[in-house]
Amino acid sequence: MTNEIEIVGTGPAGLVAGINLAKAGYRVTIYEEKPDVGHRFNGDFQGLENWSSEEDVTVLLERFGVYNKVCIEYICQPYNKLVIFDANLNKTVLQSERPFFYLVQRGGWPGCLDYGLMEQAVQSGVEIVFNKRVDKLEKGGIIGIGPRAADAIAKGIVFNTNMKDTAAAILDDRLAPKGYAYLLVHRGKATMATCMFKDFKREKECFERTVETFKKVFLSLDITNAKEFGGYGNFFFDKPAFENGKYYVGEASGLQDCLFGFGMRYAIMSGLFAAKSIIEKMDYTALLKGELEPMQKTSLANRLIFERLGNRGYTYFINHLAKGNAVEKIRRQYNPSFLKTLLYPFASWKYKSRLVDKGCHGEGCACVWCRCRKDEVCQEI
Ligand SMILES: Cc1cc2nc3c(=O)[nH]c(=O)nc-3n(C[C@H](O)[C@H](O)[C@H](O)COP(=O)(O)OP(=O)(O)OC[C@H]3O[C@@H](n4cnc5c(N)ncnc54)[C@H](O)[C@@H]3O)c2cc1C
Repeated sequence: MTNEIEIVGTGPAGLVAGINLAKAGYRVTIYEEKPDVGHRFNGDFQGLENWSSEEDVTVLLERFGVYNKVCIEYICQPYNKLVIFDANLNKTVLQSERPFFYLVQRGGWPGCLDYGLMEQAVQSGVEIVFNKRVDKLEKGGIIGIGPRAADAIAKGIVFNTNMKDTAAAILDDRLAPKGYAYLLVHRGKATMATCMFKDFKREKECFERTVETFKKVFLSLDITNAKEFGGYGNFFFDKPAFENGKYYVGEASGLQDCLFGFGMRYAIMSGLFAAKSIIEKMDYTALLKGELEPMQKTSLANRLIFERLGNRGYTYFINHLAKGNAVEKIRRQYNPSFLKTLLYPFASWKYKSRLVDKGCHGEGCACVWCRCRKDEVCQEI
């Protein structure tokens, strides 16, 4: 590769790759099809999980050069308390010295993660071209165009509220089939959603139940100025992450937490690894295999177990977390173990991504998503 790098997509994966490459002296251009960063989201709150590594996630981000405690470019609020309800609305309060997660906001204005990363990219010398959809990367480059299929979906609202800062979840298949409903409140703003891994056609009904149930368990919950948001995520294992000079990062490479959809960490880390591979001439696929693949495979085995639990099993799971150090217990579940390694082949056989591969995979193919847009794009070759 030359000193000039082209990146497609201004999600966390593309921006982190761009920031690191620009800091290493590369001339970086990022193309974004939307008029702004974070357009896929509507200012919703998300959790940057803090349980999968020993190292605190903010320390990891600082090490990656995309977070600075002294001059905070985006909201990154620790949450040490998590309220979980089971299907019978039994309440369990989990508390931990170490934050469960850091709340970030997704969107294109000051305070949002996407905006903060964009500012850092521009300050590092990255050129960002908005309103530019890229379907082909003739010279190769980095592709961070996000999910291409819906293996899980979320439907929710962002709104204003007088409720105090809260992080809450409900595990109940009637309102979040094989997933969870969540409520995040930060300084008068809130996000409430159902995250579903099944029965997508019941989206509307599940969301209405979610609102109803959160109102029942939090009598002080008032909702004003609500705006809808929704989205989807995908995971897959069987496509190469580096092909024809193109590095696939974030969800575009199928990287996602298959258990609960905490994909930001995967996006950020894979963006860094792609940059590292280019700067230090390292093998990108090997970096993913060493650091992210074992976690992702474990998350798929976890999904297999979680889906077997059902509402009664979720209650048992919540009670298990409540006894002792919950963050440590979740970390153990998120990291590889003998049992999860045994279960993975069965899990990968059972769960096939909804992503249908129509790709040409031709030698020298330049399409950024030849895997699913053959009809639209590859016919031009
Ligand atoms: C509702 C919802 C809630 C979530 N909550 C959490 C959470 O709490 N914690 C967590 O860790 N993760 C969460 N996730 C997952 C997380 O948001 C994603 O894993 C992460 O954003 C993936 O980053 P990315 O950089 O791969 O892609 P994205 O953030 O999707 O960015 C891709 C970018 O590429 C652009 N693009 C696409 N195609 C083209 C093209 N052809 N040309 C130019 N530009 C293009 C898109 O417009 C977009 O800006 C959630 C996801 C959803 C949908």
